[in-house]
Amino acid sequence: MTGTARVVVIGGGIMGASVLYHLARAGWADAVLLECGELASGSTWHAAGNTAQFNTSLNLSADALDADCWGNEAVWAGDRIGGITTSGGYGHCLGQSLAVAYVDADLATAGTPLVVEVLGERRPARVLAEPPFDPENLRPRC
Ligand SMILES: Cc1cc2nc3c(=O)[nH]c(=O)nc-3n(C[C@H](O)[C@H](O)[C@H](O)COP(=O)(O)OP(=O)(O)OC[C@H]3O[C@@H](n4cnc5c(N)ncnc54)[C@H](O)[C@@H]3O)c2cc1C
Repeated sequence: MTGTARVVVIGGGIMGASVLYHLARAGWADAVLLECGELASGSTWHAAGNTAQFNTSLNLSADALDADCWGNEAVWAGDRIGGITTSGGYGHCLGQSLAVAYVDADLATAGTPLVVEVLGERRPARVLAEPPFDPENLRPRC
């Protein structure tokens, strides 16, 4: 192993591995990672998902018909699956079917048209600029 390096990343969990990966992709060849145990033996070992580290979490509004997103629905971008919903439901205060989803980073721009598959039906959806919110509670559910 080299005695010196321009970058030394300490800890081989998801964060350290990700930092080293992105440095390498950016052309930083003189970088090493030091792990005192085994790679991914820390918290990363316990995380079943770790999706938040790789994908972008965002809010979607969906043109659902008689069923709303629930969670684990595929999010389509053209002919590829670009993400998955983690939860959803009808926003009674907003009059809009909503979902939270993890999507690939290139799909995370507000307004991006996507498609969610709800009970086998593909319905148009859009990436919202920010979480939908009714701070005045102007449209409470009766
Ligand atoms: C039970 C559990 C379940 C979880 N479930 C999820 C989940 O479903 N989804 C999700 O997104 N997140 C989940 N998390 C959170 C997630 O695991 C952590 O946020 C993430 O793994 C942290 O990554 P890390 O690289 O920062 O730390 P770690 O994975 O802990 O990596 C740190 C590494 O540094 C090494 N190290 C420490 N000190 C030194 C040193 N001096 N020299 C060299 N190496 C050193 C350690 O050995 C370790 O390998 C969960 C966490 C736990 C504990």
